[in-house]
Amino acid sequence: MKIKVKKDDNVLVIAGREKGKKGKVISVYPEAQRVLIANVNLRKKTLRQQDQMIDKNFAEREVPIHISNVMVICPHCKKPARIGRRDEKKHTRFCRKCGKDID
Ligand SMILES: [Zn+2]
Repeated sequence: MKIKVKKDDNVLVIAGREKGKKGKVISVYPEAQRVLIANVNLRKKTLRQQDQMIDKNFAEREVPIHISNVMVICPHCKKPARIGRRDEKKHTRFCRKCGKDID
């Protein structure tokens, strides 16, 4: 399966615990087929003893979620869209809803 999500894309979570949330992609892990999304899928970090004093807000961090659970939000029509590719070599992505290029 080809990864169609890129860093800085806005995505909508369509399945799982975080369903319905939107966020910006911070990073993509192609080998694991996972994406890290800002403020989505926050988990409490296991703190080491010396970190116990850190503010609780800093003790949460994003955990990557599976790529099949997200849809890219088209920057043109602002809707979660199925992404197509015009050319496998150029990797130009486009929105199947409005037909505009995303990259
Ligand atoms: Zn679109």
